[in-house]
Amino acid sequence: MRENMEKHLNERKAINKSKGKAGRCPYAKKCGGCALTGMPYPEQLKKKQHMMEELLGSFAKVEPIIGMKEPEHYRNKVHHVFDRDRRGNIIAGSYEAGSHKVVDIDECLIEDVKSQQIIKTIKELAKSFKIRIYDEDSGFGLLRHVMVRRGFKSGEIMVVLVLSSPILPGKNNFVKALKKAHPEITTIVINVNDADTSMVLGEKETVIYGPGFIKDELCGCRFRISPKSFYQVNPVQMERLYKKAIEFAQLTGSETVIDAYCGIGTIGLSAASHAGEVIGIELNSDAVKDARLNARENGIKNARFFVGDAGDFMNDNADELHPDVIFMDPPRSGSTEKFMSAAVKMKPERIVYISCGPDTLKRDLKYFKKHGYKAERIQPFDMFPFTAEHVENVVLLTGAN
Ligand code: SAH
Repeated sequence: MRENMEKHLNERKAINKSKGKAGRCPYAKKCGGCALTGMPYPEQLKKKQHMMEELLGSFAKVEPIIGMKEPEHYRNKVHHVFDRDRRGNIIAGSYEAGSHKVVDIDECLIEDVKSQQIIKTIKELAKSFKIRIYDEDSGFGLLRHVMVRRGFKSGEIMVVLVLSSPILPGKNNFVKALKKAHPEITTIVINVNDADTSMVLGEKETVIYGPGFIKDELCGCRFRISPKSFYQVNPVQMERLYKKAIEFAQLTGSETVIDAYCGIGTIGLSAASHAGEVIGIELNSDAVKDARLNARENGIKNARFFVGDAGDFMNDNADELHPDVIFMDPPRSGSTEKFMSAAVKMKPERIVYISCGPDTLKRDLKYFKKHGYKAERIQPFDMFPFTAEHVENVVLLTGAN
């Protein structure tokens, strides 16, 4: 594990050095991904710190943002859209800002390098295997997207081919050729997305190589990650973020803890050995399946996970559950009044809010303030260097009662 991680970091250092000036991106003008390319990293951090102070400073002191030492190529989940250019060449990359035109990207500043190389190989293989590329306008063609996920510590690699139908002609030879070019790949999955949608992944999946998931290590636990489960894309910052969240929770070993919007159980399971009992709630049933298996795999017996809407779950259990600590890690759209009113009703001593959407965090902090919960600490993290507004924050809230 450690070896893999060091290999990974050295790889990044070497690339950063060879490029000379960090932060330069040849696609900056076209690609809508990173608004801060070209800005020196310390300045990016200053800008984000300032933004957070402006936005959240009235609730509590905003602590200095935690940035990265090697801020490039941090994204361990790489997703490219496939298309053809005007001359008919296969291209893969991201959408141009504000459009559905694909920018052909071979070398992205923030994506994992190995994953990009794999996508490049898939581009070549698609040509030699004559795989039809999906056309958004007509709805014809097969290959829509490729997603690659790489376990930071384990080095395991998952390739997800998003197709418009489940049949990949020449499948076995395709897998063989891809594996030959990149023996590090540990699993390949076909995901079927036949809908006219901007969502990347469809419901149906077929594993065509390996176990259908990768494993990675985080905060001393091993995690199984399925294609559709959420997993933070920046593993270095993720571990720091979760450690901070657990520090804010001040667990002594006896507490009842709710891990709301728990995904594959990363926060709750990392906290379980410091708590009496962990109850996780999550909407995505694949993620909950992962969370339960992750508990078992790590020998954790004091954690239970439920599938459902977090707001409904809290509301339904507001009279019975008396957690000491609630972790909440909602999507960018933030939490709901249903969730928060039930959370307040449960009277936890501490709420640890992990947020990836500063604006919705502000809105939700207002609600908690109005209902007797005070922000004690606000710790920003730069989870997504080079992108403009996506600052992650961990906030400790304490109740007056
Ligand atoms: N805590 C996890 C996941 C955070 S991302 C981690 O750090 O890995 C937010 C999660 O909220 C996603 O897994 C998403 O599936 C889940 N989610 C979104 N809406 C939800 C809802 N209404 N109720 C419960 N979970 C929800």
